[in-house]
Amino acid sequence: MLSNSIAELDRRHLVHPLASWRGHEKAGPRILASAKGATVTDAQGHTLLDGFAGLWCVNAGYGQDHIIEAATRQLRELPYATGYFGLGSEPAAQLASRLADHAPGDLNHVYFSLGGSDAVDSTIRFARHYWHSKGASERDQFISVAQGYHGSSVVGSGLTALPVFHANFGVPLDWQHKISSHYAYRNPVGQDADAIIEASVAELRAKIAEIGAERVAAFYLEPIQGSGGVLVPPKGWVAAMHAVCKEMDILFVADEVITGFGRTGPMFACGEEGIVPDMMTTAKGLTSGYVPMAAVFLSDHVYETIADGAGAGMVGHGQTYSAHPVSAAVALAALDLYEGGLLDNGVKMGARLMDGLQGLSDHPLVGEVRGRGMLAAVELVTDKAKKTPLPAAAAPATRIFDRAWQNGLIVRAFAQGILGYAPPLCCTADEIDQIVERTRLTLDQTL
Ligand code: PLP
Repeated sequence: MLSNSIAELDRRHLVHPLASWRGHEKAGPRILASAKGATVTDAQGHTLLDGFAGLWCVNAGYGQDHIIEAATRQLRELPYATGYFGLGSEPAAQLASRLADHAPGDLNHVYFSLGGSDAVDSTIRFARHYWHSKGASERDQFISVAQGYHGSSVVGSGLTALPVFHANFGVPLDWQHKISSHYAYRNPVGQDADAIIEASVAELRAKIAEIGAERVAAFYLEPIQGSGGVLVPPKGWVAAMHAVCKEMDILFVADEVITGFGRTGPMFACGEEGIVPDMMTTAKGLTSGYVPMAAVFLSDHVYETIADGAGAGMVGHGQTYSAHPVSAAVALAALDLYEGGLLDNGVKMGARLMDGLQGLSDHPLVGEVRGRGMLAAVELVTDKAKKTPLPAAAAPATRIFDRAWQNGLIVRAFAQGILGYAPPLCCTADEIDQIVERTRLTLDQTL
């Protein structure tokens, strides 16, 4: 009864992100009531394994007492402190320092925002300020990668390469440019790693030449493309893109909003590639999704250049909730868990997940299984040889999501017929096996 009335309130008044508003008015929500570890329970008492960690963010799993106690303590002691007027708080300073210790190279300076979209926006503003400080304000063009996702703010959604984020919103697109994704499974140059890297390097060089290197402010990528369908680049691709940017003196921004905090194995995916970005955005796993917070990392030279450029004047960028002490306390507690064994467990469970999903490769609907760490995808096709995608008209994503739900599994079903996995790093071996088994059952029912 209660859940029905809540569902009705939701249907009438709550505007849902990334939803068909009309569709939602008809279908209504699925209300979640509680969660523990990797299991969530809905308002009807149906339990499900969360194979997507909320929205690839609850890396530590639900109901972690260490995080809950840290938040409660901080709420009692000091629930708010602004960073304006030179004020601060203990957890914010400690967190910035611990994050800098974990970050690759000289990414020693951390600006906190509220979520991934405004973290990306912050880097766009910092990039412009950086070039202005260097007397090169004409560097106002940005390059990113097709199939990439960098949030849905007015400016940052221009970097996002999914057209639904631009259409009808009047997003200014005249300052941003795209190169093709590495998307190996459907790359016109084939699946050979060297060929893909060579083609992407050539395309990035050509794009820079077309714009004029002296006009390009920054290049953005995700170490693994998430919302584009969990597209894993060949080893060396990220480093090759980085090398081109360094050679051309273009800022390189790594968007680790999904890949940060153990999602792909190590604390940050960039470290694995052996590169140090000029700026790096993170969010999601930073607080394990318990409260909102994002962290933008600035390298020494970006920080110093902006600081020198502004001199005694203010750098006019900030938000009321930047470096919020409760969020910082939560992030510190999440870091304790990551350092204290969760990252290691994620590596073990990630290998098990990949093995298990690879075991589905013989299924008639499975075209490709890919991933790294606790980030994976199963791309579905109707014809394996021709790699024919599932027909969009049959709304496969919604059907598969519904079936998986009935089978006690939450997966991300991308519109193009790709299933996405990002389970909490705390999963047990049995839970991972169940995620795979419930996927097989769901696919069998989809045939
Ligand atoms: N960047 C990447 C790579 C993301 O995956 C996302 C969200 O999924 C964002 C930015 C935007 O983050 P948020 O939804 O917290 O604004």
